[in-house]
Amino acid sequence: MIIERVESGPFGTNAYLVVDGCAAMVVDCPQDSAEELVKLAKLANAKIKLVAVTHGHFDHVHDVAKLKELTGAKVVVHALDAHLLESPDEYGFGFTTPSSKPDAFLVEGQVLRVGAVEFCVLHTPGHSKGSCCFYFEKEELLFSGDLLFAGGVGRTDFPESKHADLLASLKRVASLPPQTLVLPGHGFDTSVGEAVAWL
Ligand SMILES: [Zn+2]
Ligand SMILES: [Zn+2]
Repeated sequence: MIIERVESGPFGTNAYLVVDGCAAMVVDCPQDSAEELVKLAKLANAKIKLVAVTHGHFDHVHDVAKLKELTGAKVVVHALDAHLLESPDEYGFGFTTPSSKPDAFLVEGQVLRVGAVEFCVLHTPGHSKGSCCFYFEKEELLFSGDLLFAGGVGRTDFPESKHADLLASLKRVASLPPQTLVLPGHGFDTSVGEAVAWL
């Protein structure tokens, strides 16, 4: 399995390309990332089949419509954040985010795959109602979206945030094996063990 990180957009949001064999998945798709992701997939001789959105905030979904147009990939998001894709809420930052439409909804406990690699959807609300993490148990890897960063946790001052939910979600992630690599929605990677030390 190959993972590439593309940091993009005005908030330095991470997109990830996950490749296994000739299949690829994208985790989040910030502004100006779609073409780069397509290029990286081509270099790996893989086809992007799935765009899995950790949550619906505009800086994570800006290029979803474009990537879908370029690749025909299926777009998945938790149902509670689907409205944010369809009519992006830009919180007064003055950006214009193209709307996109999910093809299916992510569900807690659901097992999805990239090529032959399986991962599990964890519904981890708090930063937004429909925030999800993607957990690759065998590979010891977690895409944490905006729940957990290297040295910080997700903001809960957005209209649909809930701090108590964020704390419960962090507790859940903290119970994963400490060596689990955490790939966040902003900044560099960390591990569950590192995060637990200061949580
Ligand atoms: Zn966010
Ligand atoms: Zn973010």
